[in-house]
Amino acid sequence: MIRAVTFDAFGTLIDTGRDVLIHVARAVCQDHRPGLAPETLLETWDRYFFGAQYDEFQNLATTTEDSLEKAMADHRIDAEPGPYVEMLERMWSHAQAYPETARVLARMDGLPRAVVSNADDAFLKDILRKNGLAFDHVVTSEGVRAYKPRARIFEVALDRLGAEPGEVVHVGDSLTADVEGASRLGMPTVWVNRGRLVRGASDPRPDHEIPDLTPLPALLDGLRRGA
Ligand SMILES: [Mg+2]
Repeated sequence: MIRAVTFDAFGTLIDTGRDVLIHVARAVCQDHRPGLAPETLLETWDRYFFGAQYDEFQNLATTTEDSLEKAMADHRIDAEPGPYVEMLERMWSHAQAYPETARVLARMDGLPRAVVSNADDAFLKDILRKNGLAFDHVVTSEGVRAYKPRARIFEVALDRLGAEPGEVVHVGDSLTADVEGASRLGMPTVWVNRGRLVRGASDPRPDHEIPDLTPLPALLDGLRRGA
């Protein structure tokens, strides 16, 4: 029996604004190395960001700044990353919910819901508030000091919802962070595949796949009826 839902935030409820990153990479190049393609800088930045491994937990603002600093050094850009990270955060703070998000959440009235997001706490709560999106619980990597797909962040959400893993559906856009992370605990998963990606044979397998959030209320109704 499904008793609650957890949602990833970026790429699921809120537009990730990937274009914001290229905008910031372009500003760095224009200011310091006009001959360098912003896409090349962003590729290096991404590599350091997603490859970041730290013994101690580090929040996203710090990881973002560290990875940009390394990328700039690789491309022989002698400048401080701080102002560019501030530019990024200013732009990201205006992130918009997808057009269907509010409508879909309104249709799921009465079903407890939580956000489980790899995000810094105040940053995410501010974006949810600006978009008028209310949740029973907001569980962030910064608050829990662990990133998805680690079990800990999902366990905290289940604990706050007072539900067993099999009773809570997790909805997210990442096969690794969301689908793999939640299904390892035994939570049913819904993959929001906005980019119409083709899943490989070795990729984590979601229980359900939807192109955006629109079909979610009907899907959940079916699951709650035991369909
Ligand atoms: Mg996401």
